[in-house]
Amino acid sequence: MKSKTFLLPLLLVFVFASSCQRTDNQKINDWAIAIHGGAGAMTPDNYTQDEIDGYKVELNAALNIGVTILKDGGSSLDAVEQVVRYLEDCPLFNAGRGAVFTNDGKNELDAAIMFGKDLTAGAVAGVGDIKNPILAARKVMENSPHVLMVGKGASLFALQNGVEIVDSSYFFTDTSYRDLQRSLERDKKMGTVGCVALDIEGNLAAATSTGGMTNKRYGRVGDVPIIGAGTYANNSTCAVSATGHGEFFIRYTVAHDISALMEYKGLSLAKASDEVVQKKLVDVGGEGGIIAVDKWGNVHLSFNSLGMFRGYATENGESKVKIF
Ligand code: ASP
Repeated sequence: MKSKTFLLPLLLVFVFASSCQRTDNQKINDWAIAIHGGAGAMTPDNYTQDEIDGYKVELNAALNIGVTILKDGGSSLDAVEQVVRYLEDCPLFNAGRGAVFTNDGKNELDAAIMFGKDLTAGAVAGVGDIKNPILAARKVMENSPHVLMVGKGASLFALQNGVEIVDSSYFFTDTSYRDLQRSLERDKKMGTVGCVALDIEGNLAAATSTGGMTNKRYGRVGDVPIIGAGTYANNSTCAVSATGHGEFFIRYTVAHDISALMEYKGLSLAKASDEVVQKKLVDVGGEGGIIAVDKWGNVHLSFNSLGMFRGYATENGESKVKIF
């Protein structure tokens, strides 16, 4: 029994961590990008082939938006914003249009964006009428002296800054509502979305957006808009976007912890990410995963759940989208 408990985390590292890495700290890609669409207890038998294909089509479309921006010499900030915006508009994912419901049948969305060049960041939390929370987060970053704005104040600020406001019925989707009715943990909708990117200027950026967790208590805020927990970018290390059980990601400051292991201990992106996701979080039962890109263009995706909607692409031509 003891040996099985010991072996499990090792097995997870082996099976669920995928990356394209070189460890000699040289630039291997002038640009690189990774995306996620949430992590959780998904297995191939939970989905029809059509559903799997549908997810992959959307993940590829999102990835291509980012790749096109980066290949054209665009900024990582624009890439992560536009990728996340696309995924917010897709009802398959738990962000924007497809956001899950709170216990009292509402949608409260969180989003954050961070630029690794100057450590500027913007986030909104608990908003129920902003069509694309990631656009509002960027406005907070660029047009206000603040980092995090919540609820009505965030919506008013978004409106004043030209971000589209919608009726709350926009966020109603049958699947999210059914998930709430079931209110069963194992049936909860996966699908927080995120993107990290390195551009040819050497700037890193991260963006994450979510409806939170199905059946969450109203007023609950997760890790996504907490800079350093679910979202972090720093040009001297890496950019990270997380998905999973937010309370653990907040308490273990997951995204910043990965950056700190690189900065203070000199760990590679893969080692730092797996230390946090496959060891620290596994030890305490914190289910979920991360996507990360470092300043050299290494990409690493690590999760301790059964699946994570994910993909990545790099300058050297690698491109993959996976779920399980
Ligand atoms: N991390 C998100 C939250 O706790 C949920 C998720 O990623 O599935 O709000």
